[in-house]
Order: sequence, then structure tokens, then C-alpha cells
Amino acid sequence: MYLLNHTIATGGIIHSEYIRPAALEARAAAALGPPPPHQMPNDPQNQYAIDAFLKTGLDQVHPDVTFMWLNDPDGTAHSKGIGAELTLKSLALVDAGIGRIEDTLRARGLLDRTNIFVTSDHGFSTHSGANGLKLAALVDPFAKSMADGTKDIVVSEGAIYLRSGADTARVSAIVAALQKRPEVGAIFTRPRAGGGGEGTVPGTLSFDVARWNHPRSGDILVSANWNSDKNTAGVAGKTTDTGVAGHGTSSPYDIHNTLIAAGPDVREHAVSDVPTANVDIAPTLLHLLGMTPAPTMTGRVMNEALRDGPAIASVPVAHVVTTVRTPDGGYELSAHLSRVVGHTYLDFTEVKRAATPVR
Ligand SMILES: [Zn+2]
Repeated sequence: MYLLNHTIATGGIIHSEYIRPAALEARAAAALGPPPPHQMPNDPQNQYAIDAFLKTGLDQVHPDVTFMWLNDPDGTAHSKGIGAELTLKSLALVDAGIGRIEDTLRARGLLDRTNIFVTSDHGFSTHSGANGLKLAALVDPFAKSMADGTKDIVVSEGAIYLRSGADTARVSAIVAALQKRPEVGAIFTRPRAGGGGEGTVPGTLSFDVARWNHPRSGDILVSANWNSDKNTAGVAGKTTDTGVAGHGTSSPYDIHNTLIAAGPDVREHAVSDVPTANVDIAPTLLHLLGMTPAPTMTGRVMNEALRDGPAIASVPVAHVVTTVRTPDGGYELSAHLSRVVGHTYLDFTEVKRAATPVR
């Protein structure tokens, strides 16, 4: 299997900016030429990735599994917005590119032996422009100076990290300030002792709910707030993030992504509302290859999507809501979760603020 494994001498990674292993570079250059520059829509680089599969992968490497990253429509949607003319054009070009893959596989007699999964790593929301959430500025008053004169709080995307070590009082003070800001949505902190969905700071969810509890996580994780308002193109889903459009909040519009599959092992003309996540794709691919997913894998085999799997309607799905609130009741945060055969998925979070905190 050559899935993202650049150490396989005959296979490897062909990306528009790098090729691994280096030995693959000459072969890729002979088959593909140099990668085209980035454009908007970025169809030339997407076509380069498709050619890398069709001309070096399919002809020379014969991989069992190919992971192909098409970097548009992401870039175009970020800068032009969801439903914008160029973003729709980008989507149509990706669709045509996938059609080209299928046509080539069909012409070589490979299509009916190939399962194709098309997914995205996130959904998309319309952002608040320049007036959105400015997390670094909100947190800055709480920063202290380190010995070298730099500030001791680092803010990166929604993560807040205190470089000078654990400081429960300051973490609580930052959270309390953020809970009062309407542009702030869900707030997550380290898991409370004894488990459960609440974090160490009252009125926050545990990192575990967002699967963010790992050795390199920060002290606080913040999501911009969201609503279901429509943008000028009529597409629902807005967040208070800055910029034109993007993703990364716990809004359902950001969390829910695309998954379309077709192939000899995949159920035909079926629509499934059984929750899945990208973490389920690797175990499903292993299952299709006749291999047992390792117990360390967090995902599940999407059996209900497969022809020999259980009927979609027969899979039990439980919906669970975990709600936490500040002691004064001014900020209430709910995590909407789905459970399927022992696996839990975060569907979205929801924040309610009392106009006047209850005392
Ligand atoms: Zn993006």
C-alpha cells in the first residue's frame, strides 16, 4: 500500500510543491513536466494532481490505494465566497476532473474494480468580513512578559496557549471575558477530573468533546459564533470569523462535509444520514482491502455504505446533548453529539446568552 508513504521506492507523493522520495522526481518531471502556478480557480494544479495519478500512479506504480488531494474549491471559496460565480466554476471543474479519472479508468477496464470516495476535510461558512472575532486582541490584556520581553500568551487560529505554564486563575479570567463577547461561540478547556463533557472552567466543554485533548493542545480552544443566515448568494451558514469565507468553527455548516462514494463495493443510489467522519475512511479502505483495522484507529468501518453491509435504516443512531453553563447562567453552551455503534461524533455546538445574567 502506498498511501501517503513516501518511503516506498516505486511510489510516493507528487504534490504541486514537492515530490517524495526524491528518486520519483525525474519520473514525475518526464511524465508531467513542471507543476503549473497557482490560479483561481486552481484547476491547473488540480489537473496536475490528476495527471500524476493517471500518468505515473496508474501506469508505473499500480497502487492499491491512492490518496489524491485537490486543493480547489477550497482556495477559491475562501477568497470569493460560497456560491460566488468563480467558486461554482471551481466546483464544476473539480467535477469534470473526477469525470476524467472515471473515463480513463473505464477506458482501461479498471472502473468496475475501483472504489472512489470523494470527501472534503470541512464544510464552509460565510464570514463577518473585517468586523469578525479578533481573538488575539481580546486575549492580549491578559498576557504577561516573559524574561526575553515577548508575551507569554500565543493565539493561533482558535487555540490559546500560556507559555509560562498552567495558570488556572488566568485561564478562568480569559474564559470569563470571552463568554461575555457575542462574537465568541463554543469554548473548550482541559477535561475535568472524573470525565464528563465539561471542561475544568465552568461553562466550557472538555477538549475531549472536540477530540482536542492531546499533549500539544493549548489551554483554551475557542470557536467563532455562528448562525443560519444566508449570504448574498443565498447560501446559509455564517460565522463571526474575519475574512470572506472559511471553516474551522463548531458550526454545523463547518463540521458537516461532503462524502460521496461509488464503486463495486459501494451501495448504489443510496443516501445515508448515519453519521460518519473522515476518521472512518481509513478503516473502511482497510476493510475493503481485506485487512482488519488496528485497534488504535479511532474510526469505524462504514459498513452501512457497502453493498454487503446492514441496511442504512437499520443502524441505530442516538442523539445526545451535553449542556454546560456559567454559575451566573449568563452563558450556556451545548454540544450536540451523535452515537453510532460505540463511536461519538460532534455534530455542532450552540451558545445561548442571557440578555442580563441571572444572579
Ligand atoms: Zn480552507
